[in-house]
Amino acid sequence: MKKDFDYIIAGSGLAGLSLLYHLLRDDHLKNKNILIIDPAKKKDNDRTWCFWEKEQGPFEHLVRHQWKTLQFYSHDVSREFELKHYRYKMIQSGDFYAHLLELAEQFDNVVFSNEKILEINDNGQTAEVKTETGVFTSEYVFNSTGLFHPKMDETNTLLQHFMGWYIKTPAPVFDSNVGTLMDFRLNQQYGATFMYVLPTSPNDALVEYTLFSEKTLKEEEYIRELKKYIQDELKIDDYEITHSEFGVIPMTMARFKRYLGPGNRIINIGTAGGFTKPSSGYTFQFVQKHLLQVAERLKNGQSPVIKPSLRERMFYWYDMTLLEVLLSGKLTGEQIFSGLFGKVDPERILAFLTNESTFWEEFKIRNSVPVIPFMMAGMKQFVAPRK
Ligand SMILES: Cc1cc2nc3c(=O)[nH]c(=O)nc-3n(C[C@H](O)[C@H](O)[C@H](O)COP(=O)(O)OP(=O)(O)OC[C@H]3O[C@@H](n4cnc5c(N)ncnc54)[C@H](O)[C@@H]3O)c2cc1C
Repeated sequence: MKKDFDYIIAGSGLAGLSLLYHLLRDDHLKNKNILIIDPAKKKDNDRTWCFWEKEQGPFEHLVRHQWKTLQFYSHDVSREFELKHYRYKMIQSGDFYAHLLELAEQFDNVVFSNEKILEINDNGQTAEVKTETGVFTSEYVFNSTGLFHPKMDETNTLLQHFMGWYIKTPAPVFDSNVGTLMDFRLNQQYGATFMYVLPTSPNDALVEYTLFSEKTLKEEEYIRELKKYIQDELKIDDYEITHSEFGVIPMTMARFKRYLGPGNRIINIGTAGGFTKPSSGYTFQFVQKHLLQVAERLKNGQSPVIKPSLRERMFYWYDMTLLEVLLSGKLTGEQIFSGLFGKVDPERILAFLTNESTFWEEFKIRNSVPVIPFMMAGMKQFVAPRK
């Protein structure tokens, strides 16, 4: 196999394949020689991506279902709201991988190698990727593997862990126009604990048991809680589990580097580049926004290094403050989210959670949460050394 490429994409998950998409749809970039390395062949439907946006996105045709009406429940707040601008959307990773792999097949200049990357180095003028079978060089390596992840432990990281079941019922029991974003009416003994219910038809729904805590649970605990909720809250006795997924997303104060090396030749993308929002785990939209800019810069002959803007740094500070409050245990997740959903227009909360809010919306949000713990956590973030 050829050893020298224009670009190497390390990892062919959400970020790697999204970057490939943005490169291949651009007339200036679609003929570049691209190598994609990942031991996984991406044949499995291993995760569901949900996100919200106002317009139609590049992967609109892959959207399985979307919701205009959402619900929030806690022990104190019960709210159903209709979105005016945003739509909450669901894409299944299996559809996404299949679509991107099919697109890539049309390009002879795109090569896949199913092997593990051992090292990625920057030589100043080029970047180099070492695998079990050889060394490959390119102008830039776009990395989404965990090779450069910062150290994460219980002092700086909460785990968002969840088990989701796609269930099918013989009787039409769901309203597929209404999704439940968070239902906190569960035992909160381990940390922020909620159910997430997304019906895609009158007979089908994704039901997900989600926690923000330091440790994952035993498999049987997720199963027990899912069964209990489906029976007691959804009042469904007869159903079949058609698909199951499990995930752990780090919600961390550890800093991910966006780029590395003496020549800034290693560009971290996806979770590896810090594009998982630390306070919520949502990643999909942040990845798309970043990679669109990366492709635009490459097209214009510019370096793909993109430093965080002042606004991004401000949102990062909000994220760190919220995580600090959660990690310190001064407020529970249920108290924080009940405060928000009880007092603020949900559309504003969604704008805030996707870094699209205005200063005025942020002011309203800051006023909806208890001042003292947030002020102390916010100040700590200004002075605390990064872990
Ligand atoms: C089950 C689940 C559900 C999620 N749901 C949502 C959601 O609803 N909304 C949302 O916004 N986010 C969600 N996320 C978070 C986030 O969107 C995903 O984790 C997303 O896949 C991150 O994209 P990525 O490209 O950074 O990482 P990945 O998609 O994990 O891709 C990384 C790739 O790197 C490869 N790799 C790793 N090590 C090596 C190596 N040494 N050499 C070569 N290749 C390597 C892996 O095989 C993998 O294919 C979810 C995550 C999970 C796990």
